[in-house]
Amino acid sequence: MSQGKGDDIIRCSFCTRDLQEVLSAFAGAAGVYICDYCIRDANEEIVRTNKENASSLRPRPKAAVKKRKPLLPMQIKAGLDEYVIGQERAKKALSVAVYNHYKRVEAADKVDFYNEFGDVELEKANILLLGSSGTGKTLLARTLARILHVPFSISDATALTEAGYVGDDVETILSNLLSASDFDVKKAERGIIYIDEIDKIARKSDHASITRDVSGEGVQQALLKVLEGTEAGVPPRGGRKHPEQSLITIDTRNILFICGGAFAGLPEIIAQRVGSGQIGFVSDSNKRVDKDDDTILQYLEPDDLLKFGLIPEFIGRLNVMSSLDPLSDEIMMAILTQPKNAIIRQYQKLFAMDSINLVFDQEALKAIVDRAREYGTGARGLRSIMESSMIDIMYEVHSLKDIGYCRITRDTILHGAKPVYEQRRASA
Ligand code: ADP
Repeated sequence: MSQGKGDDIIRCSFCTRDLQEVLSAFAGAAGVYICDYCIRDANEEIVRTNKENASSLRPRPKAAVKKRKPLLPMQIKAGLDEYVIGQERAKKALSVAVYNHYKRVEAADKVDFYNEFGDVELEKANILLLGSSGTGKTLLARTLARILHVPFSISDATALTEAGYVGDDVETILSNLLSASDFDVKKAERGIIYIDEIDKIARKSDHASITRDVSGEGVQQALLKVLEGTEAGVPPRGGRKHPEQSLITIDTRNILFICGGAFAGLPEIIAQRVGSGQIGFVSDSNKRVDKDDDTILQYLEPDDLLKFGLIPEFIGRLNVMSSLDPLSDEIMMAILTQPKNAIIRQYQKLFAMDSINLVFDQEALKAIVDRAREYGTGARGLRSIMESSMIDIMYEVHSLKDIGYCRITRDTILHGAKPVYEQRRASA
C-alpha cells in the first residue's frame, strides 16, 4: 500500500490522490503507484525541460516540482459519474465551470501571467443548481470537492439574516468552510461552499413591503459581496459578530460557491414567459412545454429568476445555471444499486462483515423505489425506507444461529415479513 494516510485507500505515491478517483494508474516496485495526472504533468515537464536544454545546449537541472494541473472537464465528469447517477447536463455544466474556475485561480496566481490575453480578466463564476429535493444537488457539490481534494462545507440560506437581526451573519458560511479546512485559511480560500435553499431568500413580493424584508433581499445583498469576492472578517465559531471578538480575514475571490434550490413556482413563471397562460412553445423548437413538463427548468432565463424574487445583481453573480432532472424509476433503481457507495452495497458490506450474504429480490428493490416515490423527497426517501425495513432484521439476525444468507423479499419491504434465512454451510 502506498502513502496510506492512516486509511486503507490505495493512493498515488506522488500526489496522494485516491486511485479509485483517477482514470488509470501504474504500479511500480514495493507498493509504489503513479496516477495518470502525475504522468501527464511529469511528461509535460520533461518535454519542456528538453526543449529548453536543446535551445541552450547545456543541461540545466531545474526543479521538477510543479504545481498540480487542474483536472480536465472530462476527468471531473468521470469522477462525478462514479457517485452521481444521471443528471448528465448538470454534470457537464459543472465540470466545465469548475475547470474554468480553477484555471482562473491559477491564472490569478501567476505573477508573470502574460500572453495575448494578458489583460483579459477572467470573471468569477458561481453556480446555481435548480431541481427538486433529493435529486442530487448537494451530492454533486460534495463529490466535486472530493474529486478536487478541496475543503467543502454546506450552509443553509434560511438560517441567514441581514446584519443586526436575529439569525446568522452571512460570514457564518465562511466559518463553516474554515472549520472544514481545519482552520487553514489558505486551504479554505480554495474551497467549495454549497448554499442550500437559496430559493428561500427570494424577495417575498415584487412590491416594496412596509415591514423590512430581513430574510430576503437584505441577505441577497450581503451574500452578493461574498460571492463576488471580498476580504471578509469571519468569526471563527460562526454565529453573530460582536465587537470584542477577534476576526479571521478570508479572501473569497477563489472560493467556488454553488447555490442550490428547488424553486417551487418557477415552472409557472417560465411557462408564462414561453407562451401565453400556462402552456407555450419554446422559441427555438416546436416543443410544447407547460408548467408540469419535467424539462421546463431547462428553459430558464435570468428574467425568470428576477420574477421569482432574486435581485439582478445576485442573479448576475450566478453565471452558470443548470437544472437537475426529476428522478425516473430507472434512475432511482440505479441510485439504489450502482454508485460506489450505493445504499444496497453499504448494507451488503455491513452484513458481509458478519459473514452474511445479503441479497435483495428484484421485486424488493422495486418496492423500495415505489415507496420512496410516495415520500416525494427524491432519492432521499430510499435511505429512510431501507433504514426502517432493515432495522428489525439487523436486530434479530445476530440472535439466529449461524445465518450465512439473508434474502430480502417484496413482502419484507411492504409488510415487514421475515426475510428468507439460510444457515451457513459447514466448510469442508
Ligand atoms: P438535494 O441536495 O438535491 O436535495 P441530495 O444531493 O442531498 O439532494 O440527495 C439526497 C441523497 O439522495 C444523497 O445522499 C444521495 O445518496 C441520493 N441521490 C440523490 N440524487 C442522486 C443521484 N443522481 N445519484 C446518486 N445518488 C443520488
